[in-house]
Amino acid sequence: MPADLLDGRIVVVGASLAGLRAAETLREEGFRGSLTVVGDEPHPPYDRPPLSKQVLLGKVPADSTALPMRRDPDADWRLGVRAVGLDTLEKRVLLDDGDALPFDRLLIATGTRARPWPHSEEAALDGVFTLRTRDEAAGLAERLAAGPSRVLVIGGGFTGSEIASACRERGLDVTVAERGPAPLVGALGGTLSKLAAAMQRNHGVDLRCGVTVVALRGDGNGRFIGADLSDGSRVDADVCVVALGAVRNVEWLAKSGLAADPRGIACDAGCRAFNMYGIVTDDVFVAGDVSRFPHPLFGYQMLSLEHWGNAVTQAEVAAHNMVNPGPLRRPHLTLPTFWSSQFGFNIKSVGVPTYSDHVVIAQGSLEERRLAMVYGYQGRVTAAVTVDMAKSLEYYTHLIETAAPFPPPPGAADRALAAVIPIPSDVPDPKGLSHGPTVALTGYLPDRRLTLVQPG
Ligand code: FAD
Repeated sequence: MPADLLDGRIVVVGASLAGLRAAETLREEGFRGSLTVVGDEPHPPYDRPPLSKQVLLGKVPADSTALPMRRDPDADWRLGVRAVGLDTLEKRVLLDDGDALPFDRLLIATGTRARPWPHSEEAALDGVFTLRTRDEAAGLAERLAAGPSRVLVIGGGFTGSEIASACRERGLDVTVAERGPAPLVGALGGTLSKLAAAMQRNHGVDLRCGVTVVALRGDGNGRFIGADLSDGSRVDADVCVVALGAVRNVEWLAKSGLAADPRGIACDAGCRAFNMYGIVTDDVFVAGDVSRFPHPLFGYQMLSLEHWGNAVTQAEVAAHNMVNPGPLRRPHLTLPTFWSSQFGFNIKSVGVPTYSDHVVIAQGSLEERRLAMVYGYQGRVTAAVTVDMAKSLEYYTHLIETAAPFPPPPGAADRALAAVIPIPSDVPDPKGLSHGPTVALTGYLPDRRLTLVQPG
């Protein structure tokens, strides 16, 4: 391997999961040069999944979610500093403290932020929260611990549903308002979203679907007291959590010439960023939630994933490719996987459920509330989701990886063949949802409109 790839200056922008895992991998791969990690949050890298789970339940303090380091990446950590520009010609990252960091290779891992409530005065009411960062989780957990009379959650995606679940587990009254027909419908399609709705209602959630929140109301002291809904109803509550999906942190790249837009930064399967003309760069790499990358198993559609596992594997591949010459570079081809725990259920997903036209329940049943649902697109298996049946996922992973015919053969399931009749997957147009899907296909399929880009 050319020695100079193991030397020089590498800058990583984004000091969270993907940034940390990349920094560690760079050293594991033998990188000896200078490594600088820039992060606009003041904290060392921490884990986000517990923020909507154990932290809201009061089981873990928000400041105890630090990500364990696999090794000391021997980096210069520039925390509490924001990257505000990228000069790809001079190869410098511009920082908001006026500094400019020169680099030989750059990794962009700036992730996403919570989509804010669109009316800034209403968003500023005391008691209105979003949930993406450790500080936001700490504030929200404190309010939940104080025992509010009711919590309003706007958006029934994974984050909104997990927040509602935590509220119910704490014995709090909670209303979920979702513009789409059911919670989780944007991620899992029609059938499982009906199960998700039933789970919520059985656990006492006041679930309102097919409605939008039109205004948040405050009292004379700037405290949130409730909301008006599009059906004319009112919800009285003293805490509101806006769970409208995520916005990709790409604004700082506006003048960089990179293919960076609200869908993320486009890169090749080797994590190298594309420029705005679709030409691949050789010194700027991308990983984690901010990226979108092509995947051969999904028709080379560009995938945007907001998944923990993807941030880790993509960061490792990006770091490997940053210090290895072309023939030794690896593609980032891992299958998307996702998990969620809510209302006592364990939901696991592999593949891309929204890349589907039909589904079958291959094991278990909706009545048992324990099942494996397999998703197919144009006659081949593209995803599987299990509810309290995670052990089966390995088998379906193999079907997806081998692009196996859909529906899966009868031996794959514990049901008679007659029962395995595909039904439409009913993946809705994202524009009809409150919550942004955590998986978005942003390419072109002639028969489908798979995604809608909402301005940040
Ligand atoms: P991020 O974690 O978003 O980190 C990006 C970092 O870059 C941030 O610290 C950001 O502030 C910083 N940054 C942004 N712009 C700049 C800039 N210009 N200069 C400097 N720094 C910048 N995934 C699952 O698979 N399962 C789950 O159950 C699950 N639960 C979740 C629950 C919650 C509440 C949240 C918020 C996320 C959850 N996720 C889950 C998603 C998972 O946490 C993300 O996929 C993961 O954090 C992505 O890591 P990342 O490093 O790419 O981006």
